[in-house]
Amino acid sequence: MLPGLFASSSPSEPCYVPAMSDAMWTGVLSVFAIFVGLSIGSFLNVVIYRVPRGLSVVRPRSFCPSCNRELTSKENAPVLSYLVLRGKCATCKAPISPRYPIIEAVTALLFLGLGLEFSHDPRLPALWIFVSGALALSVIDVETLRLPTPLVRWHLGLTALALLAAAVATQSIRQTVVALCCMVFWGGSFALISMVAPGKLGGGDVRFAYVLGLMTGAFGAGTMLVGYFASSFLGLLVSLVLIAKGKMDAKQPLPFGCYLAAGATLAIIISPLLPSRFQL
Ligand SMILES: [Zn+2]
Repeated sequence: MLPGLFASSSPSEPCYVPAMSDAMWTGVLSVFAIFVGLSIGSFLNVVIYRVPRGLSVVRPRSFCPSCNRELTSKENAPVLSYLVLRGKCATCKAPISPRYPIIEAVTALLFLGLGLEFSHDPRLPALWIFVSGALALSVIDVETLRLPTPLVRWHLGLTALALLAAAVATQSIRQTVVALCCMVFWGGSFALISMVAPGKLGGGDVRFAYVLGLMTGAFGAGTMLVGYFASSFLGLLVSLVLIAKGKMDAKQPLPFGCYLAAGATLAIIISPLLPSRFQL
C-alpha cells in the first residue's frame, strides 16, 4: 500500500491525507491507467516509426507519411482519431495502418491490467515503463530484426530509476540485491551464449536481457527463472509451428526480442501465484 494515501486502520499510526476507500482508489487508478496508457501508446507509435529510421522522437510533430502534412491535435487523439477518420488521412485519404490504434489500445489494456493486479505495489510505475519499452522494442524487432541500442539503454535506465524509487519507498535492500543478481544472471548468461555460439543471439538480445533480468528479478529470482525459460520456450514453440506450416525457413533469423518481452511480462503477471519458497 502506498504510504499516506489511505486512512490508517490503527489510531496510533499517522494519517497524512483524507481516507480513500479501496473502491475509489481502484476507480481513480483505472481511469489514470487507461488515460496514461493511451497517451504512452501514442508516443510508442512515434518511437516504433522513427527510431529505426534514425529520426528524432521529439521533433517534428506527427505527420501523415503520405502527404507530409502535420497532424492537428484532433487528428492525434489515441484510438478515437482513427475511428473518426475511418482509418484514412483527412487530406490525401491515404490509409492509416490499424497498427496505430492497436498499439494504443494494447498499451492502455496492459496499463489497466497491471494497474489492477499491482494496485498497491510501489513497483507499478517501473512495470508500466518496462512494458512500454518492451512493447516498442518487440514491434521494432518483428519489423526490422533489430533492437536499437539507444532505445534499450533508455529502457534500462528508466526502468532502473523507477525500481530504485520503489526500493527507496519500501526500504527493501534485499529486493534490490536480488534484482541486480538476476540482471547479471540473465544478461551475463546471454553474453556468454553469444560468445560461445556466435550468431545464435544478437547483440540487442544480450543488452535487452539485462533489462528483463532486472525487472523480473524485482519480483523474485523465481519470477526471473520463469521468464527466462518461458521466453525461450515461446520462441521455440512459435518457430516450430511456423516452420511446420511452411511460413518460416528453419534458417530464418527469429525476432527473439518479442518472445523475450512476452516471456518476462507473463512471468511477472503470474508471479503472485508462484510459491514463496520458489522466489528465493
Ligand atoms: Zn495525408
